[in-house]
Amino acid sequence: MTKYVYSFGDGAAEGKVDMKNLLGGKGANLAEMCSLGLPVPPGFTITTEVCVNYYAGGKKLPAGVEAEVKKALAAIEKIAGAKFGEVKNPLLVSVRSGARASMPGMMDTVLNLGLNDATVEALAAKTGNPRFAYDSYRRFIQMYSDVVLGIDHYNFEELLESKKSDRGVELDTELTADDLKALVGEYKEKVKQELKKPFPQDVQEQLWGAIMAVFDSWMNARAITYRKLHDIPESWGTAVNVQSMVFGNMGDDCATGVAFTRNPSTGEKAFYGEFLVNAQGEDVVAGIRTPQPLTIKGKEIGGELPSMEEVMPDVYGELVKIYQKLEAHYRDMQDIEFTVQNRKLWMLQTRSGKRTAAASIKIAVDMVAEKLIKREQAIERVDPAALDQLLHPTLDPNAPKTLITRGLPASPGAAAGIVVFSAEEAERRAKEKVILVRVETSPEDIHGMHAAQGILTARGGMTSHAAVVARGMGKPCVSGAGELKIDYAAKIFKAGNKTVKEGDFVTINGGSGEVFLGEVPTVQPQLSGDFATLMGWADEMRTLKVRANAETPLDAKAARRFGAEGIGLCRTEHMFFDTDRIIAMREMIVSETVEKRKEALAKLLPMQRKDFTELFTIMAGLPVTIRLLDPPLHEFLPHSDAEIKEVAKAAGVTSEYVRSRAHALHESNPMLGHRGCRLGITYPEIYEMQARAVFEAASSVAKESKDKVIPEIMIPLVMNSKELEILKRLVDDTAAAVARETGVKIEYLVGTMIELPRAALRAADIARHAEFFSFGTNDLTQTTLGLSRDDAASFIEAYKQKGVLDADPFVTIDQDGVGELIQIAAERGRKARSDIKLGICGEHGGDPASVAFCQKAGLNYVSCSPYRVPIARLAAAQAAIKAKFSKAAAA
Ligand code: PEP
Ligand code: MG
Repeated sequence: MTKYVYSFGDGAAEGKVDMKNLLGGKGANLAEMCSLGLPVPPGFTITTEVCVNYYAGGKKLPAGVEAEVKKALAAIEKIAGAKFGEVKNPLLVSVRSGARASMPGMMDTVLNLGLNDATVEALAAKTGNPRFAYDSYRRFIQMYSDVVLGIDHYNFEELLESKKSDRGVELDTELTADDLKALVGEYKEKVKQELKKPFPQDVQEQLWGAIMAVFDSWMNARAITYRKLHDIPESWGTAVNVQSMVFGNMGDDCATGVAFTRNPSTGEKAFYGEFLVNAQGEDVVAGIRTPQPLTIKGKEIGGELPSMEEVMPDVYGELVKIYQKLEAHYRDMQDIEFTVQNRKLWMLQTRSGKRTAAASIKIAVDMVAEKLIKREQAIERVDPAALDQLLHPTLDPNAPKTLITRGLPASPGAAAGIVVFSAEEAERRAKEKVILVRVETSPEDIHGMHAAQGILTARGGMTSHAAVVARGMGKPCVSGAGELKIDYAAKIFKAGNKTVKEGDFVTINGGSGEVFLGEVPTVQPQLSGDFATLMGWADEMRTLKVRANAETPLDAKAARRFGAEGIGLCRTEHMFFDTDRIIAMREMIVSETVEKRKEALAKLLPMQRKDFTELFTIMAGLPVTIRLLDPPLHEFLPHSDAEIKEVAKAAGVTSEYVRSRAHALHESNPMLGHRGCRLGITYPEIYEMQARAVFEAASSVAKESKDKVIPEIMIPLVMNSKELEILKRLVDDTAAAVARETGVKIEYLVGTMIELPRAALRAADIARHAEFFSFGTNDLTQTTLGLSRDDAASFIEAYKQKGVLDADPFVTIDQDGVGELIQIAAERGRKARSDIKLGICGEHGGDPASVAFCQKAGLNYVSCSPYRVPIARLAAAQAAIKAKFSKAAAA
């Protein structure tokens, strides 16, 4: 029989940490902590399988769950020495969600469950604290009504506010037990009014109501959005954790807090976190009260308030021992939640902590030095895509800046954008680059945070919703900028004597917490230290080579700085767009005779030669793949009268003539038209000029430098072997001619791009003339799926939402279709020429999932944009580690 419920408590547990798929992250870790002998309130986990069955069965629980829950509840009662619903010594429980992957704040939670008109009296008597008992009951009615009964919590907030104003007090804590008792009466009345029936007094009804509500919250709108953003499959379902309550709000010897075993922003090995005295569960994360730092050291960033280390030294000491035990056990940085009830410490959660890219690298490298993990694990721990955060510029320290205010450095990186005050507005104006400014954020704002460049909040600590979510998204965030006075209605915020309106530019520095007026310029990141160490390990482990797509000296230099091992694609057309070159280019295009075209090409030759000389010099001995002209000539055509006149003058012809030629050369389907090697076949003099420029540049660099220059000439958009045969001969003849003229013999390769399905299928014929293949997966995706790479974006999102596509095939390789063609081409190409070199140079070369595919397909290298080179290096190392392990497992 399937087991649906797993108990834990009193130093023992039925579950364990590697049962996350079944118990969810929270449930599995609670079980594990229990088995480690840590103080965990007893409880049980209802499995994710129940959730899956619940939805499959039309929102009905599978048979047997109720009986198991009953048994598990009895086990809690035994350990806690209290009984659920009993009037003398009532057991109260929390009911929380817990999916396989953490989804902070996205699903529902109910606390203090088990309170009713009778048990509240018992709680008051047992604790000798009627105020606390009625406050708990009031909170429970509000939470339960909101989550389970569908009565929005503002209804209750209003009653609370008017009670405070009746009593002439400002803070909730100033209300007396009698006030709260009266308020409970008003809350219940409200429920009755709304539902036409009383608030449930039966604790079993309460329990099942809450369990079902948590399962239902798996499909609420914000959970769905969050899953989409984080690629969490809907089919996983959530578990439900029911746990004996512990109270952090019973008085001044109580507290609740969250902590990270290392600094989640910087990775520094220092215990780090926040707590609130006399507060319950979610108060810290909600960002409503400003929390106090845990450690004395933490006061440097956390402010003046006394730390837990000072106010509760004994409990703090115990917490330190526990966190050290947890970190040593899990061998990873942990994010923990705890509650102190009358000076007794209880652990409520541990999980691997979310961290910035910089922190993830530092922690991984440090843990290798501490012998907690191996280098392979360090490599596997860092998300390649997150490196992006580090590779991008930070604020220029020398640029003039007008500081408006300061908050907490919640998530590093710099971002500038116009101010918007709502998630909706952020989404609407995302194209303009926005900074989302809120008093505090809540899970409802997640789509706006996603659309924004950065987030600025007036309230909330380093572990507030805004901070945690922004770090997860890798977005800069400044939280808790207390000086900000935000007026949503007027769409302005004030800080000191400055007023900023919606639409004004601000810049935030999530690494320092500073907020500046206007757009501040940025500088390049430093890539030394731990980053370099980790990348060094990655380079030792990977088997795929990583090259860059680059044509300008600037890009080539960036590529080298980021560790590229050559250029995998130099798109020569990008070299013709400069103002002085475009005229010669246009002159060449509009000429009708070979002679005229050659005249214009002669003007371009020295320019190209200079380009290649620079590239070869910068790349100093590394291979450089130069692709001959690819785009249709009409892309270069003059349009305006002034442009036409300019070309006519340069070519010594009339404007009329240029206009009529432009008309004749116009194409309406350029991606499949007169482009790629078709240009080389029809206008061989163009490719000849380019090849000549390459070899002349190579000979001159070879004469000057000790580095070997190895040009790899690449022919685009080949569909059959004849095309390549003709063009290879042209390149060979040109190389021979230049060698005769210069007296320098250059070693070179000629290869082709595989961008058309036919080319992939006929790879064996084509390989007879090609020394390398480079998969142009942008065009190959376009031509295989019949999707225009320029227009598909307009409906790809809808396709993803409807589940037609899992991912944008222009971002992540379509492994089943395009991938199969690559595999076929690789196999057939290698059969025909065993030493053929295989690579990829489409955008996919910098996408971690696609890099993993390239490893599986046995390619030799990937080539991507310079900024993605480190991402590809790390992804390639991870792919190599995986391949090694699966090979070992198979052996
Ligand atoms: C490709 O098609 O994948 C490619 C790299 O070439 P381009 O993007 O220049 O068409
Ligand atoms: Mg292409």
